[in-house]
Amino acid sequence: MTVTHPPSLSKSTFLMGRQCSKLLWFRYNARDQIPAPDEAQQAVFDQGHEVGNLAKQLFPGGIEIDAAPGDFDGAIRRTTEALLPRRPLYEATFAHGGGYVRADILVPVAGGAWDLVEVKSTTRLQEEVHLPDIAFQAFALTGAGIPLRKCFLAHINGEFVRRGPIDPRKFFTLEDVTQPVSIWSRDIEDQIDAMQRVIGARSHPDIPIGPHCGNPYPCPLHDHCWSFLPEASVFTLYRGGAKGFTLLKQGIQKLADIPAAVSLTNTQAIQRAALLAGQPHIDRPALAAFLGQLEYPVSFLDFETIGPAIPLFDDASPYQPIPFQFSLHIRRRAAAPLEHRSFLAEGTADPRPEFMRQLKAALPATGSVVAYNAGFETGRLRECCELLPAFKPWLRQVTPRIVDLLLPFRGFRYYHPAQNGSNSMKAVLPALTGQGYEGLAIQEGGMASREFLRVTHGQVTAAERRRVRRDLEEYCGLDTLGMVQIVDQLKRLTA
Ligand code: SF4
Repeated sequence: MTVTHPPSLSKSTFLMGRQCSKLLWFRYNARDQIPAPDEAQQAVFDQGHEVGNLAKQLFPGGIEIDAAPGDFDGAIRRTTEALLPRRPLYEATFAHGGGYVRADILVPVAGGAWDLVEVKSTTRLQEEVHLPDIAFQAFALTGAGIPLRKCFLAHINGEFVRRGPIDPRKFFTLEDVTQPVSIWSRDIEDQIDAMQRVIGARSHPDIPIGPHCGNPYPCPLHDHCWSFLPEASVFTLYRGGAKGFTLLKQGIQKLADIPAAVSLTNTQAIQRAALLAGQPHIDRPALAAFLGQLEYPVSFLDFETIGPAIPLFDDASPYQPIPFQFSLHIRRRAAAPLEHRSFLAEGTADPRPEFMRQLKAALPATGSVVAYNAGFETGRLRECCELLPAFKPWLRQVTPRIVDLLLPFRGFRYYHPAQNGSNSMKAVLPALTGQGYEGLAIQEGGMASREFLRVTHGQVTAAERRRVRRDLEEYCGLDTLGMVQIVDQLKRLTA
């Protein structure tokens, strides 16, 4: 086996280099300026490790190549020893030609050859990302003297439905990518050379921001590179797509500076006009018509969900959002005080049956049911009814009463410049009512999901669990209270 010292590009830094050479330069020359992964990114990495561990069971009885972080020489030495018994190898480590890899799984096959298996937590092959990744590994392995027979991608089978203990052979789809990888492999050496020149340069390459900043991954240097833009920049244009980059190339940074001659959609034109006027756009007749469809008692409903890659419960698929919490505010008559009901699952069992029972009991039998981006709530209810068909008649009665509070904002019937081109509840609520989520320990749905999983399925003290459950109640409660406040404010505006 050829060993290169020091190994320079890992598969993740190789992929960084493919995304942006400026990012690559920072990774090697100014790493302290790259922010550490936040909680959400860390959760994705952790989930990837869990999926990777499950994939090892596809090829059981293998040898794990353990080494201290950064001890590549040690890992390479252990790999050399572990090749001899010809058992599957997990995290086998090789270096060649300026690249080093830790291969997820190597499987011994006939004729002294090996199959390379790369594990991904996605539910399909993403050619532009996965193929160069595997090609890079194939280059390093082959160069290090490993005869490779085939390359596989083991990705999650999106059709998988859990029934009892997870069978990795059903959970994963093994896709033979030998042929496309061989095409991608051809210029790996040239790419590594080019990347090493970037790494060795005295200063970072001058790369303008572009669509590549979020593709294939959100770049960790985003805030650094994009900080020159003004607050209401052309990139806040609603559904602006590539238009922001086109405008930037023309030297236009501010939304307010977009010339009248530039063609904008109706909603973008409203956005620009509201910004220039410094006041909200209000389509009173449309808002009045929207509010006119609400019937008392009006129920304001919001769900929180968990959706792990490896389903926790039977009758659940990878990444399927499973509701574990609802908040419900009810206004029975125009001037009646608000009532609040909520549910937050206890214990580690599947929360769906109790969630549905409690929701059915709490939701008034008549009147409107208001949700923000209601397709999410109706989708979860439909899925729960597939699992629990006894609730189907009840859902048939509820569905026609559901009103989506997002619609007037998505249609720009109301738009406030402070929304900055967003119609999410997190943007609308403070712009319209002055209320926000600041000060809450949990401020968005992803965090609610992670925290619920942590205190329900992880090892925490009872006090910690109680604290987080209080935070979850407060967060979900504000989502529905926020909807009440939005409707109240719209009523005031249209009175
Ligand atoms: S933000 Fe964009 S330009 Fe800056 S390093 Fe990342 S990908 Fe490159």
